Amino acid sequence: MRDTWPLLRDSDFPPIRRERLDTLQLNLGYLCNLSCIHCHVNAGPRRTELMDRATMELALEVAAHHRVGTLDVTGGSPEMNPDFRWLVTHARAAGLKVMDRLNPTIMEEPGYEWVGEFLAHNQVEAVASLPCYSQANVDEQRGQGVFESSIKALQSLNALGYGQPGSGLVLNLVYNPNGAFLPPGQQQLQADYERLLRENFGIVFNQLFALANMPIQRYGSWLMSKGKFTDYMATLKGAHRPENLRGVMCRSLLSVDYQGYVYDCDFNQMLHLPLDLGDGAGEATASALARPHLRDLLDTPLPRAIRTAEHCYGCTAGQGSSCGGALG
Ligand code: SF4
Ligand code: SF4
Repeated sequence: MRDTWPLLRDSDFPPIRRERLDTLQLNLGYLCNLSCIHCHVNAGPRRTELMDRATMELALEVAAHHRVGTLDVTGGSPEMNPDFRWLVTHARAAGLKVMDRLNPTIMEEPGYEWVGEFLAHNQVEAVASLPCYSQANVDEQRGQGVFESSIKALQSLNALGYGQPGSGLVLNLVYNPNGAFLPPGQQQLQADYERLLRENFGIVFNQLFALANMPIQRYGSWLMSKGKFTDYMATLKGAHRPENLRGVMCRSLLSVDYQGYVYDCDFNQMLHLPLDLGDGAGEATASALARPHLRDLLDTPLPRAIRTAEHCYGCTAGQGSSCGGALG
């Protein structure tokens, strides 16, 4: 895989500062039943890196120490970590809200029939990826049969109360484009998703988040191999909206890798660009920088500086024009 960091390092992205920490995002590992082309963590069925229970315990200690309100779990497929249920039940017992970044197809895999009921029982907010409402687009991006199995899983979540008014069980969906273009406007896209998923499959949900693909890891490498990297960066930068700087997640979130090392967000995590605890940025390679660990956060105040580079334009780009799916 090609390394995109040399193309991202020198950047004119505006400086941003951390505010109050309200979310700790844990990457429970890179094991996943899928291996999507746009995946910014290179997850897949053969990855073996998984967060262990000791690191989860430390994460809960850090969450309590910094009075964090939300634990956001991601992966890979977080449910494939053998200690997923331990973590969620202990986080809930500690009063944390828990969000699970769910690839819904996991619910259709043998051995994972427990996922939906477990999430509902623990009132976990489900953030489910469904990159388009069109079967062709989803299968192209994620693999044959992924759309059908995602639809079945979302129907099961609905049957458990997720996305239903008054249930208190939140089901949000995540869209990302299946090509080198920006997501369309979130409001219009949400209206299209609502209408088509309800009419065609009887599915309801709370909110749709439209995210741009990040020019890093597998997707960045794909852009480079197709000669599209420079054009895609120009698209992101051309769509930069300064008002979006206020809402970037790194201002209120810290991202933790499966070994317990800490980053400003999961994109920086994948670029091996660690949290800046004052060791100075700008060294030759991201991997040469000191890596703060969760345990350092028990006796060090959180830094206000956030490490940024060209990929950050993926967070501040405004809406694009089309999902590429047929509206019908
Ligand atoms: S489902 Fe998500 S974590 Fe798994 S490979 Fe696809 S994008 Fe990556
Ligand atoms: S990529 Fe990460 S550090 Fe950069 S703006 Fe987005 S959330 Fe913040």
